[in-house]
Amino acid sequence: MSRDRDRTDDSRIESRSALSIESLELSRREALSLSTAAGLGLVAGVPLILGSENIAEAAKRAPQVPTRTLGRTGKKIPILLVGGSIRLDMRFDPKLAECFRYGVNYFDVADCYAGGTSETAVGNFLKRANLRKKSWITSKSDATDPAGFEATVNQTLKKMQTNYIDMYFLHGIDNPAVLSPAMKAMQAKLKKQGKIHFFGFSCHGGNVVDCLNKAVQVGYVDAIMFRYNFRQYGNSALNKAMDACHKANIGLIAMKTQGSASSFKGKWSPLVRSGKWTPHQAVLKAVWNDKRITAAVSKMDTLTKVRQNIAAALNRKKLSQREMDALIRYAKATQHLACDGCDHICHPAAGTALDIGSTMRFLMYHDVYGDHDEARALYRALPAAARDVSGADLAAAHKACPNNMDIAWHLARARTVLG
Ligand code: SF4
Repeated sequence: MSRDRDRTDDSRIESRSALSIESLELSRREALSLSTAAGLGLVAGVPLILGSENIAEAAKRAPQVPTRTLGRTGKKIPILLVGGSIRLDMRFDPKLAECFRYGVNYFDVADCYAGGTSETAVGNFLKRANLRKKSWITSKSDATDPAGFEATVNQTLKKMQTNYIDMYFLHGIDNPAVLSPAMKAMQAKLKKQGKIHFFGFSCHGGNVVDCLNKAVQVGYVDAIMFRYNFRQYGNSALNKAMDACHKANIGLIAMKTQGSASSFKGKWSPLVRSGKWTPHQAVLKAVWNDKRITAAVSKMDTLTKVRQNIAAALNRKKLSQREMDALIRYAKATQHLACDGCDHICHPAAGTALDIGSTMRFLMYHDVYGDHDEARALYRALPAAARDVSGADLAAAHKACPNNMDIAWHLARARTVLG
């Protein structure tokens, strides 16, 4: 499995903003700074790059993104979270300063994100800006054994120059068995030592329902970050598991909110024409409509994305039923092009070491994000057997796929554009 596996799924956001000044409950100055003039360096007289000492002061004057309580942690966090799988300026990143200014002070990182630089970059920023105590850090361990988990926590503390991490996740689990009694003891030990405050896990597509249900059963999971977007509305097993977690007061955070579809070239929704939201803002609003979800994590690798996402979060208007219906229609029309990462379904059907889920994801990076070089590098870094279709039963994999994806066709494309 590739180590970039849970890049937060926030595909390209159009350079223009669909939000009008009138639709925002903001001052004209704030609205301008969040809309089309974003990214110009100076907006309506507001310096784009704030000095670190001014960030907390600027936050007092700016509207703040709404917060919700993260389950049993009892802590309020913003509904929009900064995904750490982006390359940040290691010295002082204006995107982080801008997030902080609007109350987006939750940073989701992992030791493997952004080529291993995300923890250090966020740690540098918080130290330099003296904002550690006003922020929330979640990091993650790829090691799922208790000793490895402890070692990764200790490494994170050093890299982030802090003596505690607000929440620590097992990273991208697809096997519920890792939520073992031994892991229960380890997370309790780390909490007692004050190294972590809360414990949870992320999961990206494989066995999400089983992992959510196991969290309820074991009783020591504080929060879960999992794939959730408008495409999952009809998934009754997932909804039932989410209900159980919500009832057990386990905090739920949505990732992969964009539900991107590879190869789709059409105009994907009347939402674009409505002029009210960009599609990317609309899908965030759709996730926030669900009160079981505390927050959505978003990859925000440009100031334009930062500002558009913040604008969507600040605007209290909900998606209308018409807009929700449009999203559902789009989901149905593109289901055969949208991989849900549930490779525990197609992988056994194919019957070889072929890594279908990762290949689909890299295709999405290529087609939707436009990250051509990175997608190629990731694909080429897969073991040869994970790219080798010989002997794989692709017809059986296609048949097993709940989204009816033409897996042979997508893999052939991957070999052409990524190989
Ligand atoms: S190809 Fe289909 S079964 Fe395989 S991971 Fe994607 S959506 Fe799931």
